[in-house]
Amino acid sequence: MNYDYLIVGAGLFGAVFAHEMTRKGKKCLVIDKRDHIAGNIYTKKWADIDVHWYGAHIFHTSNKSVWEYINQFCEFNNFVNSPVAVYKDELYNLPFNMNTFSKMWNIKTPEEAKKIIADQRAAEANKTGEPANLEEHALSMVGRDVYEKLIKGYTEKQWGRDCKDLPAFIIKRLPLRFTYNNNYFNDRYQGIPIGGYTQIIEKMLNGIDIRLNTEYKTFAASKDRDVTWDKVLYTGMIDEYFDYKLGELEYRSLKFEHELIEGEENYQGNAVVNYTERNIPYTRIIEHKHFDFGTQPDTIITKEYPATWNKGDEPYYPINDDRNTKLYKDYAKLAEDEKNVIFGGRLGNYRYYDMDKVIEAALEVVEKEA
Ligand code: UDP
Repeated sequence: MNYDYLIVGAGLFGAVFAHEMTRKGKKCLVIDKRDHIAGNIYTKKWADIDVHWYGAHIFHTSNKSVWEYINQFCEFNNFVNSPVAVYKDELYNLPFNMNTFSKMWNIKTPEEAKKIIADQRAAEANKTGEPANLEEHALSMVGRDVYEKLIKGYTEKQWGRDCKDLPAFIIKRLPLRFTYNNNYFNDRYQGIPIGGYTQIIEKMLNGIDIRLNTEYKTFAASKDRDVTWDKVLYTGMIDEYFDYKLGELEYRSLKFEHELIEGEENYQGNAVVNYTERNIPYTRIIEHKHFDFGTQPDTIITKEYPATWNKGDEPYYPINDDRNTKLYKDYAKLAEDEKNVIFGGRLGNYRYYDMDKVIEAALEVVEKEA
């Protein structure tokens, strides 16, 4: 059997690509090394609760066509992400907004908040220049109090390095507002798929051949393989594809500790609670039922521990600092010469993509291929 495309990775990028190319009459085979589809957006029903197995995923976008696209595959609820941050015995709203500032400084008005931030900024060494790293950027946006209590510890444990050695764009993801609005995202559309994410990928891959527990290199090299293909869409790690021949890209990994608490109806009162102190080993606790306004008698929580990535571990985040960005560009050049292979997704493009950007990027590749 010959396929038009071998799609490596049954995550969101691979599934959108497979779905669209199949609609265009192409024959696709999807393989994944895990024993399930859906990549890191995989959700699993446990105690009647949809558990985000590889970390919380909240769908948000400002792109209407992406929103309409994903809504073909499921219905979304109207969940709005409003995390809270715990620092020692203090609790603050996120993202950084008037609720945060009012609690931090016992003030009421935007003018008061802006004045405190301006005064704190004036006390810093670099008060006017362009921020050179995440620390300088954070200090210039919110001042030292917010930085020390809500950013420094969290960011350093999340990324495993000093805030001075991290690029500012990581934190530019978060809104800063001088209004009393706890919505973590500025996007127009936001929600959680009713019934979880896995069904989306199931529907996208409906009728398409899938082989699980199938690792690409071993599969491609196997002599008694019963299939061939014309082209590959590869959503694994780009440096791994090239056998690390230019060097290793760095990733950040995570460990998840899922726990069912029987008889506990409401453990923490919110879907996401961040722990911003450096010496608490996890960054956040997720209580999954709150993503879906659940009223089950039990609850499931997940502690999320950032971890050093070593070869063989699950890579979750690319670390887009100067060294890795340059190395990625060199790999991307090699990728251009690989005429029958397309690279996509967080790992194939070495980019800190959100789900809506993954869909956008996959649809762009489809356009080019069609
Ligand atoms: N961040 C922080 N304190 C928080 C939450 C986030 O300093 O309580 C910073 C941190 O640097 C983190 C970045 O903001 O890496 C992005 O956070 P986000 O929640 O968007 O990351 P993700 O959900 O992708 O892990």
